[in-house]
Amino acid sequence: METERYEHHGVTVWVYSDLRGKHRRHCLCFDCQSFYPDVPDMNCKIAEALFRFDRLNGLVTPVYECPEFIKSEFPEYHNWLKNR
Ligand code: SF4
Repeated sequence: METERYEHHGVTVWVYSDLRGKHRRHCLCFDCQSFYPDVPDMNCKIAEALFRFDRLNGLVTPVYECPEFIKSEFPEYHNWLKNR
């Protein structure tokens, strides 16, 4: 697979070219009832901790498996998050 570098949240990172910008489509959080990334007090504690770790280290880590997943009852909101 091809790799490339680009600027993400102010950090130059490496990424597989085919996967660049696709983490929202892959990440289970974006279909989860507990995911409120703009509201730290309401957001899932696992997702919030992962987000802080990612920001600290310049990483993007989509969640592929999670024991706490709950299918969203607000698909419009979570689809909006996925596509913004
Ligand atoms: S419960 Fe799991 S899938 Fe849901 S937001 Fe938290 S980490 Fe993501």
